This record gives sequence, C-alpha cells and structure tokens, in this order.
Amino acid sequence: MNLRFSRAQSSKQSPIDRAQFLRGNWRGVADLLPPPWALEDEAFFKACTQCAECITACPENILRAGNKGYPQVDFQRGECTFCGDCERSCKPNALLDDGQSAWSYRAQINNQCLALKSVMCRTCADCCDTRAISFQLAIGGFASPEINLNNCTGCGACIAPCPTGSIEITKYQPEN
Ligand code: SF4
Ligand code: SF4
Ligand code: SF4
Repeated sequence: MNLRFSRAQSSKQSPIDRAQFLRGNWRGVADLLPPPWALEDEAFFKACTQCAECITACPENILRAGNKGYPQVDFQRGECTFCGDCERSCKPNALLDDGQSAWSYRAQINNQCLALKSVMCRTCADCCDTRAISFQLAIGGFASPEINLNNCTGCGACIAPCPTGSIEITKYQPEN
C-alpha cells in the first residue's frame, strides 16, 4: 500500500486552527497532538468539555492540557500503549472507539537525523516494538533509517529517545 502524509487544513474555522492543532505551532507550544480515538476536527472541539478526565486517566502520563485546555499528547513524556483508559474516561465521547484504529498518525524522520549525516545511531529502531524502523545501507557504508508506515502505530516510543529530536508524528492517509 502506498501512503502519503497529509497536512490538510479544515475548510471551516475551528476554535483552534486544525493545522495548528496537529502541529502545535501556536503560542510557541511544540509537537501537540489530540489523544487517541479523538473525533475528527470540528466534532472533537465541539464535544470536548476540557474536563481533563482523560488526562487524569492516562497511566503513562503522556496527556496534558494544551491550548485552551484541550487535551494533548506529549511524546516527550513517554509512549502511548493504546490501553484505552483515556477513551473510557471521556464521558462526552469526544474520544470514541468506533472499532477503527486509534488514530492515523505515523512517525516521520526529518533531515536532522544523525544517521543521515553519516553518524552511527540506531536508537529509534531499538525503541520500536513493531520493528517499523529499519536501516538501509547507503553509499559510504552508513545506514539510513526507513519507516514502514504499515507497521508504525504512531505510539511515539521512538520520539523522546532520539538524540537530535528528528522524529515527528504526522497525520497520514493512504493513497488510492
Ligand atoms: S491510550 Fe492509554 S497510554 Fe495512550 S493516551 Fe490514552 S490513556 Fe494514555
Ligand atoms: S534515533 Fe534519531 S538520530 Fe538516531 S537514527 Fe533514529 S531518527 Fe536518526
Ligand atoms: S511511532 Fe512507535 S511504531 Fe512508529 S516507528 Fe516509532 S516506535 Fe515504531
């Protein structure tokens, strides 16, 4: 399956601009994402009462209140185990398990990666339980990382350990 990353914006104005929400580029707050099983776009902002129940429920402590109190995932604190505690705690059903995957986010490695600069590093691959990250030998004998988007769950386990902050979680959609 071919996959491509998407940074599409909502056509309607939301309480927080959708692209800002996904990328966290407002008020200097970086790398913020909605919790797993969040409703899409406007529906999430309308349903979420900013009660913080999901934040309290998360055993990994990776959720925190972001801009205007909306819950956000902070992968610098750890990884999502997809335990579902946040979803079950959400009484207004702003987080709702409808039998689909928890979210459509995947890891993406940017050009600050040490391995792409011919420095030996495989920290991210060592952190990935699903073995979504592999290293392909490149010219010069160094290996560069590649992410199999079919295996990546977007759990974020690779993000905090990366010594150069080279891994981002990005929304993606399969190509038809
Ligand atoms: S699924 Fe579990 S680990 Fe992931 S954000 Fe929700 S409560 Fe936290
Ligand atoms: S941990 Fe970071 S710097 Fe190291 S190979 Fe992975 S993406 Fe590159
Ligand atoms: S986000 Fe999780 S599954 Fe995806 S590459 Fe990183 S550690 Fe592996």
